[in-house]
Amino acid sequence: MRSSIGGPRVMLRRLREVMAEPVSAQERLDRIVVLVAANMVAEVCSVYVMRGDGTLELFATEGLKREAVHRIAMKVGQGLVGVIAREAQPLNLPDAQNHPAFAYFPETGEEIYHSFLGVPVLRGGQTLGVLVVQNMARRTYSEEEVEALQTIAIVLAEMIAAGELQTLAKPGTGLALQRPHHLHGRSFAEGIGLGHAVLHEPRVEIKQLIAEDANEELARLDAALESLRSSVDDMLQHPSLNEGAGEHVEILESYRMFARDRGWARRIHEAVKTGLTAEAAVERVQNDTRAQLLRQTDPYIRERLHDLDDLANRLLRELVGWSGHPSGGELPKDAILVARNMGPAELLDYNRDSLRALVLEEGSPTSHVTIVARALGIPCVGQLDGVLDLLKSGDPVIVDGVSGEVHIRPTAEVEGAYVDKVQLRARRQERYQRLRDTPAVTRDGVTMTLMMNAGLMVDLPHLPEAGAAGIGLFRTELQFMLSSTFPRIGEQEAFYRSVLDAADGKPVVFRSLDIGGDKILPYMRQAEELNPAMGWRAIRIALDRPALLKSQVRALLLAAAGRELSIMFPMVSEVREFDSARAIVEQEAARLERHGHALPARTRLGAMIEVPALIWQLNELAAKADFLSIGSNDLFQFLYAVDRDNTRLSSRFDPLCVPMLRTLKEIVDAAQRNSIPLTLCGELASKPLTAMALAGIGLRTISMTAAAVGPVKAMLRSLDVGAVAAFLDTRLAQPNGDLRADLARFAAENGVEIED
Ligand code: PEP
Ligand code: MG
Repeated sequence: MRSSIGGPRVMLRRLREVMAEPVSAQERLDRIVVLVAANMVAEVCSVYVMRGDGTLELFATEGLKREAVHRIAMKVGQGLVGVIAREAQPLNLPDAQNHPAFAYFPETGEEIYHSFLGVPVLRGGQTLGVLVVQNMARRTYSEEEVEALQTIAIVLAEMIAAGELQTLAKPGTGLALQRPHHLHGRSFAEGIGLGHAVLHEPRVEIKQLIAEDANEELARLDAALESLRSSVDDMLQHPSLNEGAGEHVEILESYRMFARDRGWARRIHEAVKTGLTAEAAVERVQNDTRAQLLRQTDPYIRERLHDLDDLANRLLRELVGWSGHPSGGELPKDAILVARNMGPAELLDYNRDSLRALVLEEGSPTSHVTIVARALGIPCVGQLDGVLDLLKSGDPVIVDGVSGEVHIRPTAEVEGAYVDKVQLRARRQERYQRLRDTPAVTRDGVTMTLMMNAGLMVDLPHLPEAGAAGIGLFRTELQFMLSSTFPRIGEQEAFYRSVLDAADGKPVVFRSLDIGGDKILPYMRQAEELNPAMGWRAIRIALDRPALLKSQVRALLLAAAGRELSIMFPMVSEVREFDSARAIVEQEAARLERHGHALPARTRLGAMIEVPALIWQLNELAAKADFLSIGSNDLFQFLYAVDRDNTRLSSRFDPLCVPMLRTLKEIVDAAQRNSIPLTLCGELASKPLTAMALAGIGLRTISMTAAAVGPVKAMLRSLDVGAVAAFLDTRLAQPNGDLRADLARFAAENGVEIED
């Protein structure tokens, strides 16, 4: 049966002409429906567009009553059109009126049409509308016709996404793609950011949807597929080229599987044969896949969707000849950076002056990218499933890093409320400013030492601004992560010297290079590991590659000549590791002295307590170390066997729990017995409520994000440490329960100021 005039190619050629005509959006839509109806020999062709209120409005029709345009609207799930929108699947019915979902709208006059073919208008897996053709005669539309209609739907999706139809909807409703969204995630870094979305890995903009020459497109597609496959193979052979470790092997394996999947390639080929360009065909197939997979609830399947998305994006980049990493560089003013996830170095690549906030689909509060965001004072909200599908580059976004909310395309009221909130926060900040020079003394006269965590030069001005007593953790690896090659010893020395100069006599505790885990140096080859967090990292690398530690120690000793130097070693598991590290420092000092260099006035060496095994070696360690510092992020990770970067686990256990506090208290008691100074420098110190608990179990020095110093100081000045210590003594003797809630109640009943 000859079902169409000229076939899909001719239709697309005509469509290209319609798209180029200088007419209004309504006129263009009207011409498209006429064209489709004529080409498919259908009596009816209609376009329904999803409005902001979730209903589908008839935007154009050929064949139904013209008066119904912009008059009728149906809910998702209502009628055949509503079912297509809900299922995101085509419906091909020879006898539509017998379908259980058929709903009759007398305004349209559609009672006489028996056959019905409708396809969803999809973009990024979201349904933006429905395109329908109808015939009086009973007939089944061919596979080729379904394909052709889906191809037209791609063009409509681009028109909707480009905002061309925005003004046509019934006043006050707007379109789905433009409607405001309010999402709840987790707060990873405090603060509020207002700005416009910038995608870390932007969608590839497809300039041309309709092909001029199908054979040429097929050849382009084959070349791009070949190049994609070999680049995935290369990645697998050189895993160190890829950011991250461990689980990436699995991801790359599944990339490889998908990249070689015949079904995927075949579907794209078929889409090209309908007349699309290779890029538009990739997009079309990915839209269908997304629409199907997004409706799955199985997290494993949804996870695979990410892989497929990445792969489709890579293929698009191959096609447009994109090269280089998408991140980095300049940002427009007031940028809200949105990513699925990213490494800390990628965040550091961006120009921070323009960055107002970071939004992550995944992420966890102790992953290094979020630590870096906090260090930079960039509000960050994460664990927002599907956020990338809801926004497009340039959309207005508000990120509330206090409550963990994100508003996409906020209404004027929401925006107004946030402007007020920002002012309120500014007033609070002023209060903290006034507290800056007052000591952190509790109501019952206990003095706490509040230090701050740092790692970059930009952190240093925070030291006087926040009124911190010093730097309790200087993450030296950040300089290495920023650099494209190993920083030379002279560069390291200059950097450490400027840190000490900026600290202006306040103590700075340098942590030796803590690489491995999620902190990868792009220029350092590291074998892929199954469990990088428990793998070759931190002091383990330092002791196996002593040249690295030696040069860092030498740089530190030289930089601190005549001043006090504190160095601590991360991830110590056994005392002998600390002994070896100390020996290296002593050798280096002796060597420098032999060569006539001035040495630090005093050198203090400490160990971080991050590996639980060290807790049972504290007496021996205390005899050798000058100080100890609890890294509560890693300690909790290993105590609870919960990967700090695993999004699925990040809210499963609360570090503010009885087992963790009992553990910390044991460490505090052991340090007191051994008269060795002890600090805590993990994220537990950075929230007033958790810091209150730390004070309660006897910690007197804690190191936190600079922005937390003010709120923690305000908390301490309103706290009776004796009372919280007594409360915890009783409370920690009981089984777990909800310790966080109990502490919050304690604070409320005792007038302790806890900023939320
Ligand atoms: C920690 O583990 O608590 C810590 C302070 O170190 P990092 O977060 O850099 O691993
Ligand atoms: Mg650590």
